[in-house]
Amino acid sequence: DFIRAIAPYVPGKPIEELEREYGLSGIVKLASNENALGASPLALEAMQQAMGRLHRYPDGSAYYLTAALARHLGVAEESVVTGNGSDDIIAMAVRAFMRTGDKAVMPHPAFLMYDILVKTAGGVAVPVNLDGMDIALDAMAAAVDKDTRMVFVTNPNNPTGRFIPQDKMRAFLDAIPSSVLVLLDEAYVEFVAEEKFYSGISLLNEYPNLLILRTFSKAYGLAGIRVGYGVMAKEVAQWLHRVRQPFNVNLLAQAAACAALEDVDFLNKTKALVQDGKKWLFARLEEMGLKAHETEANFFLIDVKREGKAVFEAMLRKGVIVRSMHGYGFPRCIRITVGLPEENEIFLSALKEVLADIP
Ligand code: PMP
Repeated sequence: DFIRAIAPYVPGKPIEELEREYGLSGIVKLASNENALGASPLALEAMQQAMGRLHRYPDGSAYYLTAALARHLGVAEESVVTGNGSDDIIAMAVRAFMRTGDKAVMPHPAFLMYDILVKTAGGVAVPVNLDGMDIALDAMAAAVDKDTRMVFVTNPNNPTGRFIPQDKMRAFLDAIPSSVLVLLDEAYVEFVAEEKFYSGISLLNEYPNLLILRTFSKAYGLAGIRVGYGVMAKEVAQWLHRVRQPFNVNLLAQAAACAALEDVDFLNKTKALVQDGKKWLFARLEEMGLKAHETEANFFLIDVKREGKAVFEAMLRKGVIVRSMHGYGFPRCIRITVGLPEENEIFLSALKEVLADIP
């Protein structure tokens, strides 16, 4: 019955299908916080080389990837667990730590998979409304009770793009009992401006109940190959390995991720594209009298002063896919991912037309 009560994740239709349906070509997709530059070229090359080994099972321990990540992050190999996308790490954590009726406190709105995966483990999701654009850390800590096993925090946050500074994060972690696993989702952390940057990984020694979640889907441009990882205390990692499927990270994904980690040039280009794109879009939107919400991620919310869902649908008819925030608590907003300069321009022209048509 608890499975019956779960609302399945509803993904968008394939782009080719939308193009047929709407009679369009060259749809611009700025909906899923992907990397507009594509995949890291070094990763593509490594995948080509790995193709010759596709008849073999992948390395079940992701030996080279785990070692490369540990080196890259300055942590022990035993602290790194790799997954089929970071979703897979969340799934392992809830399977290892939640029993039927246990509670998981999470922001609302938040990345939908937290809710879905907690419920598939028979857990009870305890949503805590955002405080404006920010995660309500005090209210989240106050929502923890004796049945709480996990707390989810997203930094930078999705869908608002806000970043929790280190002093606030520490105060929050101090308020959470050490028996509660804190899943700190850093899917977008690579985009945080240098002067604000810190990672939960640097807090792991002080707070061994932290599990930091990372992904290759965003800054590294590898969403389609599915690879993510968690960084955590060795004891926590042991629990995850107990429930991990042995070949959870496929052979191409392991090769791609190892190479992507080395591709500093691509990462820097990606960061620059996002920073420059944000600056340009924020300025143009301001000229249009629209408010774009401050962000540390590769996406942001725009208050379109109209029903966001109607704007989303009209944009789709013009061949630009954005994300409607209908049902996310921001009914007058759309969320867009920063694209290539030409995509940003197409987005902006379409938005101008759409807003002129919707009073
Ligand atoms: N966390 C957040 C906050 C996300 O937005 C996403 C992707 N939309 C993920 C995790 C999952 O990413 P993946 O499974 O591709 O690693």
